[in-house]
Amino acid sequence: MSIHEECGVFGMISNNTTDVGQMIYYGLYALQHRGQEGCGIVVNHDGLFSSHKDLGLVSEVFGKENLAKLPQGEMAVGHVRYGTTGANNRSNCQPIEVNHQKGRMALAHNGNLSNAAKLRDELELSGAIFHTTSDTETIAYIITKERIKCGSIEDALTNAMDILQGAYSLVLMSPQKLICARDPHGFRPLCFGKTKDGSFVVASESCAIHAVGGEVIRDVEPGEILVFSRQENGIKMQSIQRHCYKEERKICIFEYIYFARPDSVIDGISVHSARVSAGRELAKEHPVDADMVIGVPDSGLDAAIGYSLESRIPYGIGLIKNKYIGRTFIAPDHRLDQVRIKLSAIEDVVRDKRIVLIDDSIVRGTTSGRLVKLLREAGAKEIHMRISAPPFLHPCYYGTDIDSEEHLIANKHTVSEIAELIGADSLGYLPVEKLGCLMQERYPDYFSGYCSACFDGKYPTEIPTDTRKDRFEMPLSQKEKK
Ligand code: SF4
Repeated sequence: MSIHEECGVFGMISNNTTDVGQMIYYGLYALQHRGQEGCGIVVNHDGLFSSHKDLGLVSEVFGKENLAKLPQGEMAVGHVRYGTTGANNRSNCQPIEVNHQKGRMALAHNGNLSNAAKLRDELELSGAIFHTTSDTETIAYIITKERIKCGSIEDALTNAMDILQGAYSLVLMSPQKLICARDPHGFRPLCFGKTKDGSFVVASESCAIHAVGGEVIRDVEPGEILVFSRQENGIKMQSIQRHCYKEERKICIFEYIYFARPDSVIDGISVHSARVSAGRELAKEHPVDADMVIGVPDSGLDAAIGYSLESRIPYGIGLIKNKYIGRTFIAPDHRLDQVRIKLSAIEDVVRDKRIVLIDDSIVRGTTSGRLVKLLREAGAKEIHMRISAPPFLHPCYYGTDIDSEEHLIANKHTVSEIAELIGADSLGYLPVEKLGCLMQERYPDYFSGYCSACFDGKYPTEIPTDTRKDRFEMPLSQKEKK
């Protein structure tokens, strides 16, 4: 489907281990699902930075040789990238490194600024020269500009947060400090924890903290800045809350539906349990007489369990995913159906059965149509498609790459028309007013606590006027005409 993860960030400040680069590698491996276009690690050794970044998966970019080249150090930051803004080229790989008279900094970012174009125009007009086309460089510029006016990097970041709008979960590193921050709405997840040796780790998702043997302490609060520094008696942590509790909490609901790993816990809510709840709600909203519930691997499986539990229709494994295929697989021969290479149906399970097929979304409808065909060819008698999210109707300005509005099938067709187009016997979506079921008791007011703008158009911030992905790459002559 044409939805892509945004990015994943990971940082570590060690108490006594020195192989921080390797630890970041493990953390990024656990966050690979959040971005497969490129990745990078910057290691801080005695205040000096060494880095390696490139396009590709973590395992490709950090083969044995490149990993061995990273020096021992006290701190490090890492990033996995899916480019929601900026071209997919090496220069846009993160973490971004800045060398300035006021100090050195490495910065990794997840999210999109909603005022990036405006800020970048202002910076360019004041003489700034950009080397990348990503929002992250804009953030780095703003922090550096503020650094000139104030003493510490955390003060500079605090001031920068008055200027930045939109979604940003940041991990940054100065020669002496590891710092993380989450935007005041908390669009994107960010949490921190501690390893057995007293080192602190910061990550987009809790699964990455567990991957390095750490325990999660808590989520970073929306608007909060955490500053970690090494002291003689261990690592000191300071929380700066000047931007906390001023805006409504707006975690991206699609993190729970699709992006995040089911073993992660975000803002106190298990992603797996959230998906099971959505499946249960779906069964209440769209019941059907059927013999078996199956999920589309991977993110449809948990909701399928929920549908099965609620409906008491047995759960089965009817679709198998090729384990060796990444989310970015591109078939060299486009005549072949890519869905068939990624997924196959187990004939023995689905033959002659009335199937409830659970998926997390329908974007253009192409993949859903192919899945239905695959199951029919395997002998399924009926296929009732159920989607654990409402129909996509609007773009996202906070770091999720959703197809343009004119390609979204739900913008052109009714639910029954979509069912016919994809060849399903029936189709049902999770109603937008029931999205709160994903948040369970944590946020009992269903209409707050999360962003659902791509489903209901209710954007928590002002939205940008120029939203082209290549907006920073147009020739000057065109830019001048604007
Ligand atoms: Fe998430 Fe949709 Fe909001 Fe974007 S618009 S942050 S994808 S809920």
